[in-house]
Amino acid sequence: MRKSKFLKLKVREASFITRALISSQHPVLAHLIPMRRCNLACGYCNEYDHTSKPIDIEIVKSRLDKLADLGTSIVTISGGEPMMHPELDQIIHHIRVRGMIAGLISNGYYFTPERIKRLNKAGLEYLQISIDNVEPDEVSRKSLRVLDKKLRYLSEYADFHVNINSVIGGGIKNPDDALTVAKRATELGFSTTVGVIHDSDGTLKPLLAKEKDIFQQVKKLGNKDHARLNWFQDSIAEGKPYNWRCRAGARYLYSCEDGLVHWCSQQRGYPGIPLSEYTMEDFDREYNTEKWCAPTCTLQCVHQVGILDNWRDPQKTPEQMAKEQEGREGVGEMVRAD
Ligand code: SF4
Ligand code: SF4
Repeated sequence: MRKSKFLKLKVREASFITRALISSQHPVLAHLIPMRRCNLACGYCNEYDHTSKPIDIEIVKSRLDKLADLGTSIVTISGGEPMMHPELDQIIHHIRVRGMIAGLISNGYYFTPERIKRLNKAGLEYLQISIDNVEPDEVSRKSLRVLDKKLRYLSEYADFHVNINSVIGGGIKNPDDALTVAKRATELGFSTTVGVIHDSDGTLKPLLAKEKDIFQQVKKLGNKDHARLNWFQDSIAEGKPYNWRCRAGARYLYSCEDGLVHWCSQQRGYPGIPLSEYTMEDFDREYNTEKWCAPTCTLQCVHQVGILDNWRDPQKTPEQMAKEQEGREGVGEMVRAD
């Protein structure tokens, strides 16, 4: 990334953080899904299919317009594999035209020099690629061996910030892989983060001694800002619940391929309201609702957004909210979520 562009991005980041601290009345980060289809089939993933069509560009633009009208600071395009959407460049460009920061989460398979240059031109500012292992296996083909050439292209041509996320825990076969991935990422000039994941049955178990050691080593190599924002991971690594306020449905919005707002990718169905009809009343209700799944949640980006408001506005349980807002549509659904 060019130094001048990097500095501009830092100034924009500082301004959105200041704005978010001054006012809690707008979304900070939205994940938008323009395509559920993916070219891979990772064993742990429930966010893809192999058949669905890309969402029409005009519909995607209207969803982006709604996010901009709500005052959203950052929009990250995710999937499925969003690089399979034929109009991805237009989507990125539209985020920028509407004054928001443009991010992308991808499995990395489709990056070529020509494609990276088009994303530069469209105005992409952040890219995150998650790499699960060094050698592909039956669970994941998001592997360093397969993606290294793509990473070299990105290192040479990308004029946007690239972060490589590795994972640890959850029975990942070779915990050393996370360190190999993180070292390669820093070698190529990227930032790097590490995600602690649950066991395959969803339970929270402490990392093994070797995994903890590697986790600490990867954290040291990584982005210091992220490490400071990811305190919760130290509790999760110890198998302990973490006390925080999840602001999903408000400060963090997840809009699926059908244009519905959900708490997040792991809690689909709640509140399940179309983004086009989402109001500040919905925002306030979700902002103030305690999420039953928060203590064991591992979603880094939602935790980071939560930090902005952890010091203010204590939340209420869905039952307390339901009592207060008796009869209002949507609250019943939240109680059922609990
Ligand atoms: S690449 Fe991403 S979206 Fe596709 S199957 Fe794997 S985790 Fe899911
Ligand atoms: S706590 Fe985590 S899993 Fe639960 S709604 Fe928030 S982001 Fe989703």
